[in-house]
Amino acid sequence: MDTKNEMGLPKASDATAQTYRNFPMVPRVVFGRGSFDQLGGILLPKRRHSDAPFIFLVDDVFEGTDVVSRIPIIFNDQIVFISADEEPKTSQVDTLVQEILAEYTEIPSGIVGIGGGTLLDLAKAVSIMLTNKGGSAAYQGWDLVQKPSIYHVGIPTISGTGAEVSRTTVLLGPEKKLGINSDYTTFDQVILDPNLTKGVCKEQWFYTGMDCFIHCIESLNGTYLNAFSQSYGEKALELCKEVYLGDLTSEESRDKLMMASWHGGMSIAYSQVGVAHAMSYGLGYVLGVKHGIGNCLVFQHLEEFYPEGVKLFNQMKEKQGVILPQNICTGLSDKDFDTMIEVAMAMQPLWENALGADWRSIVTPEKLRFLYEKI
Ligand code: NAD
Ligand code: ZN
Repeated sequence: MDTKNEMGLPKASDATAQTYRNFPMVPRVVFGRGSFDQLGGILLPKRRHSDAPFIFLVDDVFEGTDVVSRIPIIFNDQIVFISADEEPKTSQVDTLVQEILAEYTEIPSGIVGIGGGTLLDLAKAVSIMLTNKGGSAAYQGWDLVQKPSIYHVGIPTISGTGAEVSRTTVLLGPEKKLGINSDYTTFDQVILDPNLTKGVCKEQWFYTGMDCFIHCIESLNGTYLNAFSQSYGEKALELCKEVYLGDLTSEESRDKLMMASWHGGMSIAYSQVGVAHAMSYGLGYVLGVKHGIGNCLVFQHLEEFYPEGVKLFNQMKEKQGVILPQNICTGLSDKDFDTMIEVAMAMQPLWENALGADWRSIVTPEKLRFLYEKI
């Protein structure tokens, strides 16, 4: 029986056929040192009229700096400074949306996020919630967003998360830490200007960069791996090695880490992350440990799952002279450990990618407790 349709794709009626995901990519991207100055020209054709502003959500680390003076504000545009000290929350998104709706008679022409993963995720979430009813917590999950978001632009100022390419925005809600995963989440435009990453301190540069490295290791060693993910993951891994183990100039290093982040994000788009991310979610939920450093704290103890990756990680850490904090979990109550373990074990797709369908026979609550106690 012919199971393919005229396009050579599996027929919908073929019960054994696999359905492949049809996921969106960022349709427009600029890359280059100083390309941030093109923002005004990029936004101009997207301005609906003078009453429909652009709202710029900017990491408050840039307050009073040259970056802010280069933001192309006209008409009733607004710059909102936001601290990245804590990861984005659904309540924070809802407040921002209410403030924007109360202040303007028109829906904005667009939202521009300038910062790291925290600001990029906020920009994505706000652009979705300006057109979708209710609170953002109701959209945490997969494909729950009904209406297209407004035009939104992402401008990363630190490299590694891949939030600039992904179709998710990770939010801490009242009940869970989970992304709004949807086709409307992905940015309409990204500006990759490596010069914007100049001010990042060494520790943060390492933690967020290691997020990218860990994306590669978890994707390349996962059971969900396919040629699409592999091609991006291998490139991103090679770039991470150049940045953290090579002897590049600082310009080259910033350029390459920005592209590593992009490729790492593309790699997990079509596969999944793994053990470090699942456990880091638990740390983040109970202790508020941020994504990048949380991944590092967990990953250093995962030689059983990623022997080569952990070896490389330690080399990079040593070469860069980074010392990770210790005894993070010392003194936690049994209840705290149980919550962390519960949050981590709920990340089923991550475990399945890492260890296969039978993952529960390998990863038990006792094993996770043992690993958390080392951190
Ligand atoms: P971040 O945005 O949390 O920022 C980390 C620190 O770096 C902050 O103190 C910030 O002020 C500072 N910083 C940023 N740019 C700077 C610059 N140019 N100069 C000086 N300081 C600068 O960092 P992150 O690691 O990029 O993002 C973490 C967040 O990203 C988490 O909330 C995580 O959940 C999210 N995330 C999202 C995705 C996704 O696909 N949506 C993927 C991974 C992580
Ligand atoms: Zn990550």
